[in-house]
Amino acid sequence: MAIASVNPLTGEVLKTFAPLTDEQIEGRLALADRSFATYRHTSFSDRAHWMHQAAAILETRKTELAIIMTLEMGKTLKSAIAEVEKCAHLCRFYAENAPIFLADTIAQTDASRTIIRYQPLGIILAVMPWNFPFWQVFRFAVPSLMAGNVGLLKHASNVPQCALVIAEIFHTAGFPEGAFQTLLIGAERVAGLLADRRIKAATLTGSEAAGQSLAAIAGHHLKKVVLELGGSDPFIVLKSADLEQAVNTAVTARVMNNGQTCIAAKRFILEAAIADQFLEKFVAKFKALKIGDPMQPETDVGPLATPQILQELETLVKETADMGAKVLCGGYRHQPNGFQTGNFYAPTILTDIPLGAPPYYAEFFGPVAAVFRVENLDAAIALANSTDFGLGASIWTNDAQEIEQAIAQLEAGAVFVNGMVKSDPRVPFGGIKRSGFGRELGVEGIREFVNIKTIWIK
Ligand code: NDP
Repeated sequence: MAIASVNPLTGEVLKTFAPLTDEQIEGRLALADRSFATYRHTSFSDRAHWMHQAAAILETRKTELAIIMTLEMGKTLKSAIAEVEKCAHLCRFYAENAPIFLADTIAQTDASRTIIRYQPLGIILAVMPWNFPFWQVFRFAVPSLMAGNVGLLKHASNVPQCALVIAEIFHTAGFPEGAFQTLLIGAERVAGLLADRRIKAATLTGSEAAGQSLAAIAGHHLKKVVLELGGSDPFIVLKSADLEQAVNTAVTARVMNNGQTCIAAKRFILEAAIADQFLEKFVAKFKALKIGDPMQPETDVGPLATPQILQELETLVKETADMGAKVLCGGYRHQPNGFQTGNFYAPTILTDIPLGAPPYYAEFFGPVAAVFRVENLDAAIALANSTDFGLGASIWTNDAQEIEQAIAQLEAGAVFVNGMVKSDPRVPFGGIKRSGFGRELGVEGIREFVNIKTIWIK
């Protein structure tokens, strides 16, 4: 894939970039390696100071940065601004908490003193996607830098301007030369990088295929990886739920970020007793969504990031409909009034989905909701767990016993009760099964890329 910014609204090529040459890559690696030798000895208070500076830069420049995101991948400007603000919050969270999360732990053993110390590993390679072009990168970079590691970013090829400006932000914030660098390279260069002994570990957010490839190569070189891959999160609504709230949240949880979110609710599993009522409201709200220019404040859903994403989504919907599913709304490429271009797909609701159709196994990366009816909670959980994914799950009920059962039995890295699955710096984030392994955020996230050293003193 060419490294280029292409406006998903107009198809216009905004900027293209030549990928780095072998010599340039070597230069960045050598700089990162030299940087780590001194950066690892910087104090928490220095790192926190730079991180607070980064937060301030993000806030001061939030509109300018958000515009870059919207122009490169089509998310609404208002959601892009919120993303920048969330990154600033993340910087402050780890600036304040990293010293606590990484403070020595004391253990009682047969020694006179036993200490567990958390030391940085070195260069961490991050392979990141375009869907949250700031948040996904900051989610890796902030804890890694606070832990004393240095970072190399291989961002998705369609968001190079985001990649470059993020590196500039960390540099302007005061982080030493080489502590965080962007490599403008294609995916085919990742294997070579992982083989380099100076790179100690890697993290990837993206598709299963990319995760499998990275994990296999990292396995060969015995390097640690954290993988945050796809999801097909269930959104279970039972009869005791507050329906109004559940429907409103269901719409947001599906179409947020134009539907291109790993933790978006994708399968809506409704208890039969409330299914008709829920569906009626759900369809009405989907039909009322404003599709259009992501720069406009009234727009709810903008274009998908690339023609490929649109094509993949269209194929999955068509396959599902051809197998017999009903299309309650949408189900087609969209051309909102006044637009001749744009990767738009109409918000779509599918029901009566036959067993074995794509919603049972595939990730729908766009504004398409798959709806299922079940008789009770047991059936809902069985259906929720029937995919190979295990990222998040949302359940809506006011019955205490049902809540406990769902928490115990849902196969997911997170269960949200009467709320939408979301990431939060204070709690770990990640999946099980084919959604990946390892955790980001929280105390668990910052401890993924450290040497947890046991110190035993007689
Ligand atoms: P990819 O997984 O292909 O891209 C994500 C990142 O991985 C990019 O930086 C990409 O680089 C890189 N990459 C791709 N293949 C490899 C590889 N073999 N080795 C190393 N790095 C690799 O996602 P797509 O953009 O192609 O989207 C396809 C589907 O993936 C979506 O429809 C969605 O289902 C899922 N996805 C899930 C995301 C999530 O948040 N969980 C995010 C993005 C996608 P490059 O851009 O240069 O190819």
